[in-house]
Amino acid sequence: MEMVELKKMIENLTQERFSCSPEACDDQQLYEVLLVLTQRMAQARSAPETGRKLYYFSAEFLVGKLLSNNLLALGIFDQVRELLAEMGHDIGAIESVEPEPSLGNGGLGRLAACFLDSIAALGLPGDGVGLNYHYGLFMQKFRDNKQMELPNAWIEKNSWLIPTDAAFTVSFGGFDLTAKMYDVAVPGAGNEYANRLHLFDVENPGAQPLSGIDFDKTDITHNLTSFLYPDDSDETGRLLRVYQQYFMVSAGAQLILKELEERGYPIEELSEHVVVQINDTHPSMIIPELVRLLTQRGMEIGAAIEQVRRSCAYTNHTILAEALEKWPISFIEKVAPQLVPVIMELDRRVKEAYPDAKVAIVDDQNLVHMAHMDIHYSFSVNGVAQLHTDILVNSELKNFADIYPSKFNNKTNGVTFRRWLEVCNPALAGLIDGCIGKQWRQDTEKLSKLLEFADDDVVLQRLLDIKQENKNRLCRFLKDEQGIELNPESVFDIQIKRLHEYKRQQMNALYVIYQYQQIKSGVRPERPVTVIFGGKAAPAYVMAKNIIHLILCLKQLVENDPEVRPWLRVVMVENYNVTWAERLIPACDISEQISLASKEASGTGNMKLMANGAVTLGTMDGANVEIAQLVGQDNIYTFGTDSDTVIGLYDHASYKALDYYHRPAVEKLVDFIISQELLQIGDPVKLTELWRDMKQKDWFMALLDVEAYIAVKERAIHDYGNLRQWAKKMIVNIAKSGFFSSDRTIRQYNEEIWHLK
Ligand SMILES: *Cc1c(COP(=O)(O)O)cnc(C)c1O
Repeated sequence: MEMVELKKMIENLTQERFSCSPEACDDQQLYEVLLVLTQRMAQARSAPETGRKLYYFSAEFLVGKLLSNNLLALGIFDQVRELLAEMGHDIGAIESVEPEPSLGNGGLGRLAACFLDSIAALGLPGDGVGLNYHYGLFMQKFRDNKQMELPNAWIEKNSWLIPTDAAFTVSFGGFDLTAKMYDVAVPGAGNEYANRLHLFDVENPGAQPLSGIDFDKTDITHNLTSFLYPDDSDETGRLLRVYQQYFMVSAGAQLILKELEERGYPIEELSEHVVVQINDTHPSMIIPELVRLLTQRGMEIGAAIEQVRRSCAYTNHTILAEALEKWPISFIEKVAPQLVPVIMELDRRVKEAYPDAKVAIVDDQNLVHMAHMDIHYSFSVNGVAQLHTDILVNSELKNFADIYPSKFNNKTNGVTFRRWLEVCNPALAGLIDGCIGKQWRQDTEKLSKLLEFADDDVVLQRLLDIKQENKNRLCRFLKDEQGIELNPESVFDIQIKRLHEYKRQQMNALYVIYQYQQIKSGVRPERPVTVIFGGKAAPAYVMAKNIIHLILCLKQLVENDPEVRPWLRVVMVENYNVTWAERLIPACDISEQISLASKEASGTGNMKLMANGAVTLGTMDGANVEIAQLVGQDNIYTFGTDSDTVIGLYDHASYKALDYYHRPAVEKLVDFIISQELLQIGDPVKLTELWRDMKQKDWFMALLDVEAYIAVKERAIHDYGNLRQWAKKMIVNIAKSGFFSSDRTIRQYNEEIWHLK
């Protein structure tokens, strides 16, 4: 678009809405103007032509702020930034006004957002389907070194949500609710199309929660869409999750059939024109719901099941047993009694064909195994990294893979480089342009041309300078928002991800303890190190909250010790979200990916960090395995027990935490959790609970790997001293990251699963 034209549009909008010139507007006003401008431009775009149309169902879409991303997709990001600068405004300041939509939790939701971005960029017809949570997950605050949860109200009068006329009746046991549909436009980068993210909502969403994140979980009519993942430690919370899931899939299924009819196709041809991707098990009830709706419209049950089976594909995200959803049939009887006969029929057919009780949908305790329903009644089951898919096929889901060998396939995750490099790290993107041209922005595999610059001193120095600028910028954010002043010259060692024992933030905390003890005994590290954490713990997950408590206590301890502080710092960012990720990732030197091997299905944070020139320190887990293969052993730090061994330890229940605890080097670290120093700072009950768990249970085996972890981390910090060598590792990582573009992932989904066009 022409600059003059764009300028005119902005001027007209500021005049129309605020009766002033753009120069005289404040950031809030300009944000609103740019929101309206991008929304109009996106809405003027048409959907890609449909062959088969994709519906991507997900309980979460962690989209992040949308202004820059949408301006980029509309192809006007650079012009708008220039125009604003001419008018005396800074696009960064304007975007800081935008509230981050709170529609997701972690990697799974962020994956869904990257996928929508890539589907649109590839010009494929595919819409997202989810729920419009008003208070999101929660807003994390720290008080007394503990996590507090507050409601995260993000919807303002002007938001990215576009109200639509579409509304569907969802019948629950005993009452009906209307599902109103809101849309968020998803413009495709580099083309003229736009897809949509459909978010369903109740008609009269609830008022502010009672206090904190407490609300009336039995008031379904008002509170169904209040929070993502309501606390499931009691039955009302678990039931509410089932209400949410059925609300989402019933409205979504009705939308699918309505659009099918509008496109002029009979329901008998559903699978020719529709594909449903089920992102983890939360949307699994789409299967019986579609069967129910088809039979209601006159199809014979066998034919309906066959059409649904050929339309649905399922993505598995975890092998953690506690994360595989199983709902008592009594819950479904209460929430959606009309589904029960369908589920029983689906189960009957499975039991008739396969007597193996382990593959049944309904077990002998009347629990409905959602993943089992997905596997039997879909045409594709995929894992999200090669190792993860191998584990599914060879162990976790072996019984199913034996029945359906050709259904299982791998789609290694990816991330959109538009947000995770072009937008969040413009200086690095510019350096890459200067070296190899701009084509990598369309085809990230072209980043491999950077390898030609691996010995170019000028480029390596520029790379280090950009990293330093990004570290300085992160320091400014941390000072402004959390009042912390860091040493930007120190090594930035970053672990950012949801708090979970399998991700082993506790092992990183043991490293902090190790380093603290070293310094106190007079042995300083080779150079100052800053260990940065970010992540939320589920409100009912006691152990994860205890780990946060430990980290924050360690932070306080180190901050107040003038002997330690110059050499070791600990930071935990409050309310880690996409916005924080965009600031932290470009500033990272060492990327912590230290999950217990076999437990992290893929990880995507690892990919974003790699693309921004961080060097991975990780276990051979998830996509780390593929990263290691791509960059080679010189450019990654791997350690720890391998996944086969770990799986064996679980199978034979042979891991004994106490045996590892009693190693002298380990005992010293673990016992520090209940040292006088820490007990004076923290909550003795929580610290003791964590200490006892780590030495006696340690379910995710932090003590198994902690010595190897400390050794490899010390090696990485040593190697950082040779900056030229380090910069070489950085450039190899960037050059090899192109494989992890979600454009590549989506191309594979389309070619091997969806066949959209
Ligand atoms: C990418 C991302 C994640 C996923 O991180 P993992 O390290 O893969 O668990 C979680 N949260 C946010 C905000 C992200 O951007």
